[in-house]
Amino acid sequence: MDSKPIRVRFAPSPTGGLHIGGLRTALFNYLFAKKNNGTFILRIEDTDQNRLVAEAENYIYQCLDWCHIPPDESPKHAGRVGPYIQSQRKELYQKYAQELISKGFAYYAFDTAEELTNHRTANPNFQYQAHNRLQLKNSLTLSQDEVNQWLTDKKPYCIRLKVNPNEHVAFNDDIRGHISVNTNFIDDKILIKNDGLPTYHLAVVVDDFMMEITHVFRGEEWLSTAPIHVLLWQYLFGENNMPRWVHLPVILKPNGKGKLSKRDGDSFGIPVYGMHWGNDNLTKNGFKECGFLPQALINFLALLGWNPGTEKEVYTLHELVQLFSIEHIQKGDAIFDYEKAKWFNHQWIMKLPADALWKYAAPFINTIPNINSKSSTEILQLMNLVKERCVLLTDFTKQLAYFFEAPKHIAMDSIKPKWDDNKQRFFEHLTPNNLETDVLDSAASYQDFFTKTSGSFNLQLKDIQLPLRLALVGDKFGPDVFKIAENLGKSEVIKRIQYFTGSLHQNNQ
Ligand code: GLU
Repeated sequence: MDSKPIRVRFAPSPTGGLHIGGLRTALFNYLFAKKNNGTFILRIEDTDQNRLVAEAENYIYQCLDWCHIPPDESPKHAGRVGPYIQSQRKELYQKYAQELISKGFAYYAFDTAEELTNHRTANPNFQYQAHNRLQLKNSLTLSQDEVNQWLTDKKPYCIRLKVNPNEHVAFNDDIRGHISVNTNFIDDKILIKNDGLPTYHLAVVVDDFMMEITHVFRGEEWLSTAPIHVLLWQYLFGENNMPRWVHLPVILKPNGKGKLSKRDGDSFGIPVYGMHWGNDNLTKNGFKECGFLPQALINFLALLGWNPGTEKEVYTLHELVQLFSIEHIQKGDAIFDYEKAKWFNHQWIMKLPADALWKYAAPFINTIPNINSKSSTEILQLMNLVKERCVLLTDFTKQLAYFFEAPKHIAMDSIKPKWDDNKQRFFEHLTPNNLETDVLDSAASYQDFFTKTSGSFNLQLKDIQLPLRLALVGDKFGPDVFKIAENLGKSEVIKRIQYFTGSLHQNNQ
């Protein structure tokens, strides 16, 4: 293990909502930092000003907060290596670009957009690199005087990396092992654009150096850019100071066919963002709005490409921190299994007590008509009663609603086949007058009462349980029917039974 203090960064570009892949990268960074008493940094990579989306930055904070993985250093909680927003670090990048030019590792390129387009039209495989750069308009082909004059005249230019041909860039990825790339496959990447801002390549290397990053956890899609970064590290800061590279496995679509994309939210009818991302018309709700607990989402994401090597699946964030290690990150792709995500949510709903659930379930539960007719203690009690039936927090709405309002519609069809006059007489017998003296105040007392009374009609408890459930709930779901009765209270139970027998009459007509 490195002796340097561990420092990792999550470096999103604020171009949209935080999708599942980005959130998993943030999580792995967080887990690794916390496991190693390190620092988790959020850096906003906004050098591509054309793609910026207002609100995206704010959304990132909210999402990390909701998942309980807040950064230690960020634009909002600056540490000693700020600023943490790349557009505010413009001068720094210029300085390093100049250093590269003076060391002969970079050059000015004055080719206009039109000229480059012409080259690409003439040769669709056109790449700006060693084999053709001496035929193009740059400081390698122009005289020093011309270059100086053009710079003074403020002719638009960019600064390009000068990649030597026929060499190998080699580096180690902690998951993928030794990687070596022939430099003939790397083009002379732009480092500073003609708007004066750096490209991602220069900015990421300069910032990782200045922010003393020890490990770069990022998605596998960035692996192809790593050789460029390695070259920049060699040219600017020395390979010995380079962070360790950890490229995380690709997340595949639920059907395993290709990489999960933002569009898959619509195609598969599943959330692909942590939270609702309002500006993106491709998506619907996020995991939060679909009724997921952040604990469950985190648990699910942690196991998307990593596992601690045991059969156990449900982990708290604290446990994940304790167990996390790079060695257990898999190389192979991870399939995004939405059903599994729901399974985790169900486990977490069952695991958390109602008062802990309330914080997340309240927005859904508060939409239940008449919800204020019961005290918060009563609501929590009811939540505990029904929670094992809830896979998503949205399920609480249906599972609780009948405690607050009598069902308007009763699913009579489910009892019709086994209905008979005797059962009809039994339910008609359950009037306020007939029950006046019975003490009904607990699930056990209801069970005793219904056992005894159904017996006197030559019925068994199992014969009357479903109709009783329909009377109280309106449909075939919910916890133990006597528990439901206990929570509704005697007068409400009788009222609902009467409404039910009334519906039976209507049905018989
Ligand atoms: N700014 C890149 C992104 O949007 C970060 C890549 C990296 O972590 O180096 O994901």
